[in-house]
Amino acid sequence: MTLTPLELTRPASVTDAFLRRLVARVPGSSGTTWKLTEVYTGDTLAELPQSTPADIEQAFAVAREAQRAWAATPLKQRLAVFKRAHTLFVDRARAVADLIQAESGKNRRMAIEETCDPAMVMSHYLRRAAKLLAPTRRGGPVPLLTTSTEIRQPKGVVGIIAPWNFPFATGISDAIPALMAGNAVVLKPDNKTALSPLYGIELLEEAGLPKGLFQVVCGEGPDVGPTLIDHADYVMFTGSTATGRVIGERAGRNLIGCCLELGGKNPMIVLEDADLAEAAQGAVFGAFGNTGQICMHIERIYLPESRYDEFAKAFVAKALALDVRAAYDFGPDMGSLVSVDHMHRVKAHVDDAVAKGATVLCGGKPRPDLGPAFFEPTILEGVTKDMLCGVTETFGPVVALHKYGTVDEAVALANDTDYGLNASVWGRDLDAARAVAARLESGNVNINDILATAYAAKGTPSGGVKSSGVGARHGDQGLLKYTDVQNMALLKKQVMGPRPGQTYEKYVEGMLSGLKMMRRFRIR
Ligand code: NAD
Repeated sequence: MTLTPLELTRPASVTDAFLRRLVARVPGSSGTTWKLTEVYTGDTLAELPQSTPADIEQAFAVAREAQRAWAATPLKQRLAVFKRAHTLFVDRARAVADLIQAESGKNRRMAIEETCDPAMVMSHYLRRAAKLLAPTRRGGPVPLLTTSTEIRQPKGVVGIIAPWNFPFATGISDAIPALMAGNAVVLKPDNKTALSPLYGIELLEEAGLPKGLFQVVCGEGPDVGPTLIDHADYVMFTGSTATGRVIGERAGRNLIGCCLELGGKNPMIVLEDADLAEAAQGAVFGAFGNTGQICMHIERIYLPESRYDEFAKAFVAKALALDVRAAYDFGPDMGSLVSVDHMHRVKAHVDDAVAKGATVLCGGKPRPDLGPAFFEPTILEGVTKDMLCGVTETFGPVVALHKYGTVDEAVALANDTDYGLNASVWGRDLDAARAVAARLESGNVNINDILATAYAAKGTPSGGVKSSGVGARHGDQGLLKYTDVQNMALLKKQVMGPRPGQTYEKYVEGMLSGLKMMRRFRIR
């Protein structure tokens, strides 16, 4: 690991005036603020207003008003905003990455990759939205005389609650299909990482999104959540499984739909014939990319006994060679954890594992010399299910190596978890790897990759199974979930009942033979 003392100059784009302008968008009538810090140093970047219930109600009132006009705007005009926004998002990617790095402490490469996500989502739905939102004429119950048309109506105002690990992607990307479909959005970002989504909204407005349509409210989750959910017509939540249960319960009580994108304890299975050099390189990203704070990242690696030592040696060597430090350039391979609190949680998982008998192959310690929330890339072996990190998500740069005897055993071990968000299978025989992938209880499975292949495939729905979530983002359902179906049915002539003078017996006879004919001629 390269150790470099902290020498840091904040990017020129992150000026006090810029930050003050961004947070001015957040309503905070009580005057209470939250100190939003630069993670690398702990210095205060901005005083973030905290929204009261009355502020949140007002944000919904403004959003609802704006939504009526937006929904009445022709779709082509709505989509034109996102065509312009796509250009702006790509042009300003570096400034967005500066903010993401300052508020989250991640390294430059991950910050830049994150900036691409909303642009990719816009690109995908710019191609699909018109088709998905067009009325679809279906046949009615009586051929020729009836029609039924599936019409997609916007839900109204969508509440989005986003986490800190990909604040720009989860805050903005999930809003794009909602807005395209004619909804307004009220976003609650995490207090720690509100700056980049606030800038994203500024860019959308620069591209022509009507003012008022995309609102932001800030505060601690339990303070803001109830009022937000009680006023929303749909909730899109990304975060931990524990919070997801709270959100889902409240949405259920209010009889509104919700999409819950939650945590994981994602396994990687290396098959006997895998290219070990590639698998070890993949594991470095899987375990330490975004400082181990990706919902789809890898926390458990299963290796055949015959290849365990070779893999472990290569993987540990790569982990030790990582350049870990704070910098706003592309140098470091890994940055900081998001906060000192989170660093303590990650440390507690490692300490608990060690106390219960796990072995640290590398890392295992905080690095206050690099910054307040740094933690070493850590590889463990001997992790068991009585350890915190053996069952629950650590969400840090900590991964455990395990041996398996047979492929059946590897599959059983990978599935032995409450979670089911992502999995990764490595092998040269692609048919064999596919067969293993198909047996994994996981909403996403990547073959010979960790997560990017699945996540960047915006045409395919991506979500978790088991305790990792309900619903999905991306794909057709990633937009259609923000709509209600209106079944508009038309009867051209009244035929669904006996004609004048016809007995009910005769009418039923005709109806039953009609049913048979329709089946025979495959009309219905
Ligand atoms: P978290 O659940 O603590 O917080 C997520 C968001 O919910 C934050 O904005 C928080 O303020 C808010 N919140 C907290 N309590 C709330 C409440 N009672 N009511 C309403 N809102 C509330 O999660 P986190 O620690 O910020 O994020 C990390 C978690 O997110 C990890 O578990 C990770 O796996 C998960 N995650 C999942 C995905 C996915 O797509 N499946 C993506 C990113 C992160």
